[in-house]
Amino acid sequence: MRSPVELTDSFRDRGLRITPQRVAVFEALHESMGHPTAETIYQTVAADMPSISLKTVYQTLNDLTDMGEIRRLDLGSTATRFDPNLEDHHHLVCDCCGVMIDTYLDASRIELGELEGFRPTGTSVFVSGLCEACATSTSPENP
Ligand SMILES: [Zn+2]
Ligand SMILES: [Zn+2]
Repeated sequence: MRSPVELTDSFRDRGLRITPQRVAVFEALHESMGHPTAETIYQTVAADMPSISLKTVYQTLNDLTDMGEIRRLDLGSTATRFDPNLEDHHHLVCDCCGVMIDTYLDASRIELGELEGFRPTGTSVFVSGLCEACATSTSPENP
């Protein structure tokens, strides 16, 4: 993901309105570790800027996604996450706390089997399990 200053410039270049609220969303995303939901970003920004609305956060995240600055991760079961990491990568997802960790693997080695005319354009791998913290706290050796 590019810096908040660069994003401000690209928004202007596209004729999109720049407001202090939108810049605050850029900054919150830039500083976020992991894969925040719109609600997480909203809570972060609203702590300093109570005037921001969840709608503005969604709109800004959608604009950034349309511009290819961030990626939208939709797992169906949980709220949509936004990923500022544009490198080719996949995810480890904790069943217990929901943390999403970037992982790098060679998805081209995955056997896809019979695709029945389906033409794949990409592969996104989500590995579910327990993160280190949750695995430790639920392990019988560490009650
Ligand atoms: Zn966990
Ligand atoms: Zn990621």
